[in-house]
Amino acid sequence: MLGIYVHVPFCVKKCGYCDFLSFPGMENCFRGYVKALCGEIESRGKLHGTEEGGKARVDTVFIGGGTPTVLPAEYLAEILGTVEKTFDVIPGAEITVEANPESATFEKLSKLREAGFNRLSIGFQSLSDRRLSAIGRIHDSKKALEAFAAARKAGFDNVNVDLIFGFPGEPEGEFAATLEGVLTLKPEHVSCYSLIVEEGTPLAENVRSGMLPEPDDVRDRADYRLAVRRLKEAGYVHYEISNFALPGRESRHNLRYWHQREYLGFGPGASSFYGGRRFANSSDVERYVSGIFETDPDSDETMTQAALRDEFMMLGFRLTEGPDFDLFAEKFGRRPEDYFAGRLEKLEKRGLIEKRACGGRPYALTEKGLDFANEVFEEFV
Ligand code: SF4
Repeated sequence: MLGIYVHVPFCVKKCGYCDFLSFPGMENCFRGYVKALCGEIESRGKLHGTEEGGKARVDTVFIGGGTPTVLPAEYLAEILGTVEKTFDVIPGAEITVEANPESATFEKLSKLREAGFNRLSIGFQSLSDRRLSAIGRIHDSKKALEAFAAARKAGFDNVNVDLIFGFPGEPEGEFAATLEGVLTLKPEHVSCYSLIVEEGTPLAENVRSGMLPEPDDVRDRADYRLAVRRLKEAGYVHYEISNFALPGRESRHNLRYWHQREYLGFGPGASSFYGGRRFANSSDVERYVSGIFETDPDSDETMTQAALRDEFMMLGFRLTEGPDFDLFAEKFGRRPEDYFAGRLEKLEKRGLIEKRACGGRPYALTEKGLDFANEVFEEFV
């Protein structure tokens, strides 16, 4: 069973903190892009059929960006239709599209729901108009709330809301107010990410020049703990470092990444994991639109069994339940203790992971480990 990721590298305007592969003002390329994308899905998809000549089975599809909803709904339906023609998308598959409030109108969302999308992920980021404007978002809180209402009215009963905390200069209580506002909406899923000041972004420049203060680590951690506490109190399961879901509404597509399951990525910059090989497409959008689908030579690795085992542990520790030792044994023939006893003991002594009662998942991050998760991951790199 495979997952499919499709990248849409377009946005209305570039946000001040963003270093994703996304470009504003490329409306003239939309038609050509969708044609190229469908061409790539069809040609590469055919290579992944079953030995008997059948189509590969797919249980999650995720169209992300960028802002996929800058495309007309008909184009997104065409992309999904091509995925469904090329692969055997099983009944009940999770089919997600990312949206930003300014382009998530009721009309568009209704068409997307009709086309078969059954999960929507909306980039709220904040419900403070001051913060949204300061970080260069083009929507305000009213638009975000309208987009959420439109999603419900259009029939989306599985909605994620993306939030960011830890903005430089964010007044105390601002994130708490956003969180409370989101809780009143009762989305099925909430993702809360700590802002990262990425080199080369306007935000990094503003911090360097002193226009904005350095991010405050103490506040960042306090806001993270607040999110964990409030979302848990509201009935959400904290299932991954940054992700919270009502029971049974975890993102199946993202769980695939953390369980080291296979997926194919389409579109410029999209990465894939298939047959023990991790590789990514070239990020050159213009060449892509002209129908040239190249793999990025810097990002193509056939992984050794040892590297796969390390990676399995690293990804598994992102999950609050910890890595699945039974699944590990199924994949690699022996249990993690046979390879990692020393490292697990060391991390436990440092208070970053702890033993749990559950047999299949005997180790998980501690509260301290949630704050210093990178130090846990480094043990498995
Ligand atoms: S909407 Fe998202 S992908 Fe687009 S520029 Fe802003 S942060 Fe980047």
